[in-house]
Amino acid sequence: MNILARVKDFLTYWAVKITHGMLTCREADQFMVDYLEYRLDPQVRERFENHLENCICCRNFLTAYRRTIELARACAEPPVPAAGPRMPPALMEAIIAARKGVSPPS
Ligand SMILES: [Zn+2]
Repeated sequence: MNILARVKDFLTYWAVKITHGMLTCREADQFMVDYLEYRLDPQVRERFENHLENCICCRNFLTAYRRTIELARACAEPPVPAAGPRMPPALMEAIIAARKGVSPPS
C-alpha cells in the first residue's frame, strides 16, 4: 500500500469517527469508572460501548482497570483462616465425655 492510500485510509477512519459521533480514546477514558459503576446515561453508555467495540486499546485498558479493582477489593477483605477456628479444649473434652456417656470434668 502506498503512502497516499495510507493517508486516505487514515483520513477516512477519522472522518467516520467524527461524523458518527464516536468517542475518542481520551473521552472514553473519562467514562471508565462511571461505566463500571453503571452510572452512565444510556446514550453515553451506548457511545462508550461502540467505542470499545472498535478500540482494542480501550478494551484492554478497561479489562486491566476492572481486574485492578477486583484485586484491590480482594486485598481489603479479611484473610480466610487456613485451618478454621480451633475448638476450645473444654468443649472437646465435653464432646468426648458425652460420646462415652461420662460426665465431663468440672
Ligand atoms: Zn479507545
